[in-house]
Amino acid sequence: MEKILNYINGQWIDPSDVEYVNVYNPAFGEVRAHTPLSGVTAVDDAAQAAAQALPNWRRTPAQDRIQYLLKLRQLLKEHEYEIAKAITDEAGKTFEESKGELQRAVENLEVAAGIPSLMKGEFSEDIARGIDETMIRQPVGVGATIAPFNFPAMIPFWFMPYALATGNTYIVKPSEKVPTTMQIVFRLIDQVGFPPGVINLVNGSKETVNPILDHPLIRAVTFVGSTPTAKYLYARCAANGKRVQAQGGAKNPVVIMPDADMDMTVKIVSESAFGSAGQRCLANSIVITVGDSHEPFVESLIAEARSRKVGYGMDEGVQTGAIVSKESKERIENLIGIGEREGANLVLDGRGTVVPGYEKGWFVRPTIFLDVKPGSEIWKTEIFGPVLSVMHVNTLDEAIALANSHQYGNQASIFTNSGVAARQFKYEIEAGNVGINIGVAAPMAFFPFSGWKDSFFGDMHGQGMDMVEFFTQKKIVVERWPKEWTRKF
Ligand code: NAD
Repeated sequence: MEKILNYINGQWIDPSDVEYVNVYNPAFGEVRAHTPLSGVTAVDDAAQAAAQALPNWRRTPAQDRIQYLLKLRQLLKEHEYEIAKAITDEAGKTFEESKGELQRAVENLEVAAGIPSLMKGEFSEDIARGIDETMIRQPVGVGATIAPFNFPAMIPFWFMPYALATGNTYIVKPSEKVPTTMQIVFRLIDQVGFPPGVINLVNGSKETVNPILDHPLIRAVTFVGSTPTAKYLYARCAANGKRVQAQGGAKNPVVIMPDADMDMTVKIVSESAFGSAGQRCLANSIVITVGDSHEPFVESLIAEARSRKVGYGMDEGVQTGAIVSKESKERIENLIGIGEREGANLVLDGRGTVVPGYEKGWFVRPTIFLDVKPGSEIWKTEIFGPVLSVMHVNTLDEAIALANSHQYGNQASIFTNSGVAARQFKYEIEAGNVGINIGVAAPMAFFPFSGWKDSFFGDMHGQGMDMVEFFTQKKIVVERWPKEWTRKF
């Protein structure tokens, strides 16, 4: 049984004096590893190591720093199978989805490799006679990422490559449910040969997170996870004077217009809602049909959802993988029960799914509710499973108003053939990511990634240029060097 280790100051460390929790393969329902619940000591060791490594790393030219990232990129690509299989075996998604996730990690390394040009400062000559003004960017210091379970490889890479490239040193805290992917990634980081302390790994749960939020040497924290934790963490970091950005939960609406291409729309919405077993922060989870779109859309959506192959993500043809844990499966099934009791029309019920050959695994087949009421529990709550709530309105204005009345604003999509409808939607919808005839509007690594409203707490987003802003502090230098002075010498 794999024992998960920390990686601090270039050494693999077994924090043997702490409690451990089980890590499962959710398709098998079997334990595959044990995560240590590291506490104050491990976090302090990592923060001290990162702080000691900082002066030398910061002085290393950006051009040299990015060579480490490029080497890591190459190793991630060479170990694609091993990493993607680890993702599937701990997070439950399909092998194709895992490979796609890893590709996003690679792309973030590629964008961060452009940091030398992104980090360029600004210079203004003769702001007064003989006086020049310069803006330079310097690293913030030690940073940390606290990651969720659903993208064990990708999410740390929304932040870490940029932090390192801009001269910061770093700590990664994966989800205790999916720590094995980062064990492999850190073995590759070890192989790259980063100077000790530049990049550290600490495993655990909230007893690991709180010391990170309170540690005076850690100056910048990025978080991705559920909204209650995001809110809590944002407030605690701010109270401690840290830079912080916290990405939270979601409940993403998709509006179906009567002029949409129904075949394409049904396929894309079904993949968005039921791919990754709905455990994706950009998954469509509320469908709002407009006017005549309702009947044709719903009819073929049900057929499409029913036909999806559910099972172990490494098996051929599987489209919907496992639910990450027994507790998550129970929570999803409980919410389906609540929806039924609230009076929504359950036309496809995924509860009680058993996959032959994987009888101990945790699966929920695609589930569809019709006639879901605004304000009901299944409308409000992020279910984070393959459950789609369908609602119906008569006009696009009503659809946008309904979508905007939700607390979350991570992603919203519209399916239409009308540029006018698409433009109105893009203009009026309150969401950080908008899809037009797209189901999962995930930004490329050179665009910022984040939501609005209760899906995000902070200002700078993940990925791209926002990360350069987040991980650098600007310094203004005003200099007086008038030419006349040279005449004195
Ligand atoms: P989670 O909030 O349970 O855990 C996230 C991280 O916080 C983990 O590392 C966990 O160890 C830690 N944590 C959990 N409870 C804590 C507490 N009380 N105090 C301090 N730390 C705590 O989230 P999850 O279940 O791992 O991930 C799913 C959630 O993440 C969903 O809500 C999903 O929408 C969200 N998510 C959002 C985005 C985005 O970009 N907005 C991306 C992916 C996932």
